[in-house]
Amino acid sequence: MAATPAGGGCHCGAVVLQIRGTLRPPINCHCGLCRRLSGAAFTTWLSVPVEVLLVQGEAELVSYRPTPNLQRLFCRHCGTHVLTRDARCQHIAGLPAGVMADADVPAPSGEYFTSHKAPWYSLPASAPCFGGNTGVEPLPRPFDAGGTRSRDDDHCHVLMP
Ligand SMILES: [Zn+2]
Ligand SMILES: [Zn+2]
Repeated sequence: MAATPAGGGCHCGAVVLQIRGTLRPPINCHCGLCRRLSGAAFTTWLSVPVEVLLVQGEAELVSYRPTPNLQRLFCRHCGTHVLTRDARCQHIAGLPAGVMADADVPAPSGEYFTSHKAPWYSLPASAPCFGGNTGVEPLPRPFDAGGTRSRDDDHCHVLMP
């Protein structure tokens, strides 16, 4: 029996997403770009091979390029950010995990760019933590620094370890 595809999409329903296959654990990115574009403390990113991602309602998507490499796609009606494409890694799409509302999303595997995190957010005690100048260097715990810098890194989250 084939597994039911993992389902999601935008708030108004104009854009529907389906992923065939098992979802890999997402990562939480605390970089300045992910924080500002989401308006939240961090973005939880799922990395999905484009060959298993079905997008219905693609004509309803409009895009914004926050950096030369990134194309952020959102619903023209309700504004939900449903996916991001990265010119450096075209076979993978980045999905904010919250749009996969009807899917079993695994727990995030780690916290990235934590040296740039919002000072008002405390990291979960047990989460593997990465940061430093690159955003992806392993950091010892306990670690709760951050907030001193808010770089808009043009990083490729799908290439994070
Ligand atoms: Zn919508
Ligand atoms: Zn980020």
